[in-house]
Amino acid sequence: MERNVYRAHCLVLAFPAQGHINPMMAFSKRLERKGVKVTLVITKSISNPIHKESLTSITLETISDGYDEGGIAKAESIHAYLERFRQVGSQTLAELIEKVSSSGCPVSCVVYDPFVPWALDVAKKFGLLGAALFTQPCVVNNIYYHVHKGVLKVPLSKTEILLPGLPPLESQDMPSFIYDSVSYPAAFDMFVGQFTNLDQADWVFVNTFYELEQKVVDWMAKIWPLRTIGPTIPSMFLDKRLEDDKNYGFDIFKPNTDACMKWLNGRPKGSVVYVSFGSMVAFEVEQMEEIAWGLRMSNRCFLWVVRESEEVKLPKNFVEETSEKGLVVRWCPQLEVLAHEAVGCFVTHCGWNSTLEALSFGVPMVGVPYWSDQSTNAKYIMDVWKMGLRAPVDEKGIIRRKAAEHCIREIMEGERGKEIKKIAFKWRKLAKEAVDEGGSSDKNIEEFVANLVHS
Ligand code: UDP
Repeated sequence: MERNVYRAHCLVLAFPAQGHINPMMAFSKRLERKGVKVTLVITKSISNPIHKESLTSITLETISDGYDEGGIAKAESIHAYLERFRQVGSQTLAELIEKVSSSGCPVSCVVYDPFVPWALDVAKKFGLLGAALFTQPCVVNNIYYHVHKGVLKVPLSKTEILLPGLPPLESQDMPSFIYDSVSYPAAFDMFVGQFTNLDQADWVFVNTFYELEQKVVDWMAKIWPLRTIGPTIPSMFLDKRLEDDKNYGFDIFKPNTDACMKWLNGRPKGSVVYVSFGSMVAFEVEQMEEIAWGLRMSNRCFLWVVRESEEVKLPKNFVEETSEKGLVVRWCPQLEVLAHEAVGCFVTHCGWNSTLEALSFGVPMVGVPYWSDQSTNAKYIMDVWKMGLRAPVDEKGIIRRKAAEHCIREIMEGERGKEIKKIAFKWRKLAKEAVDEGGSSDKNIEEFVANLVHS
């Protein structure tokens, strides 16, 4: 959308991971639709000329994180990456704010991912407003907040965890970096560190919608100016209000769109099992094999996203032997796939974006959480939102083929599947309403923009 007069100018800093860029991008488009000039900032290592073309009127800028060639993959550790990003990023972000502000449209607010809390300090140095955008659900943020406050102590000592706004949780429902804070200390510090300076944020946004997490949102909104702004799914898939939303994507991986859509187009309604574990999960070979066998035993058609790095973990000849029923690709246009009527079940790692996307499209899920917030999301999918099953693990922590097969069958042909389909209708409707004109998230974004204009 071409605009001569903008209501305000937001600089939106995304963390360089697929699950963080997608919501930042969709939020940027909604801001832009409300008359805000948006400068989307990504790190040099993930920038690509194609992205610039797909952004229409959003301006794309890059900053250095200290690893311009290769990004986080080139760092010695997560800790080393985050520390370097903090040092180099604080400077490169400040330089960018100066450059952008002197170009005639001064920045009024920095929207940042709380994985990089230092971005708020940079914004404040320039006297700008700062808005954190959490890309995980409120329930997960609430758990980490209680760790930050020292109320929830790690290692966990209790079997039942009671926190305000949440149902009783067991340790297996906790984010993995909490029940196992030793294996990934840098990730643990990063998640807890999101709250270090949050009191100084002028706004705290969460990619969720009020109707989905009402109790915990109400509780957390007493602490910060917290607002729900999701689902940050491109408008063309939900409320269909943004005219120029066709190029919604910001893929770090290249999707095999034609092959996927052609393959899906020929399939009957609700007949396909879609399987994807997102951009980072790396299961052990044994686990991949069990899932592959479970899928095969379910005797259903399937579309499975197996990233290049994971392909060697598939059973020998699996792709060839299942080619009549299945399609294995390295990356797909997930939103288009989930929105396709042929898809009847989503076997997912329960990453927050994937969960929210499946809820919004009404696709029942089989949860196979791997790490991070995925176990908490899986708990909610099964017991709170009642949108799927969490696949059970054996004493070694592995989901066996029979368990995977059983869950898929339950969803595709069992009673559970029928119940979920009824509930799915409700979530689909509520998700759309939240972002549609006057919905809970839409109102929150409008209120934010109105405040920017008057500040
Ligand atoms: N995604 C995609 N194609 C794929 C797999 C995933 O476009 O083949 C997208 C998906 O729609 C979601 C994001 O990548 O928006 C993954 O985010 P999520 O939080 O689910 O998982 P993460 O990758 O962060 O573990």
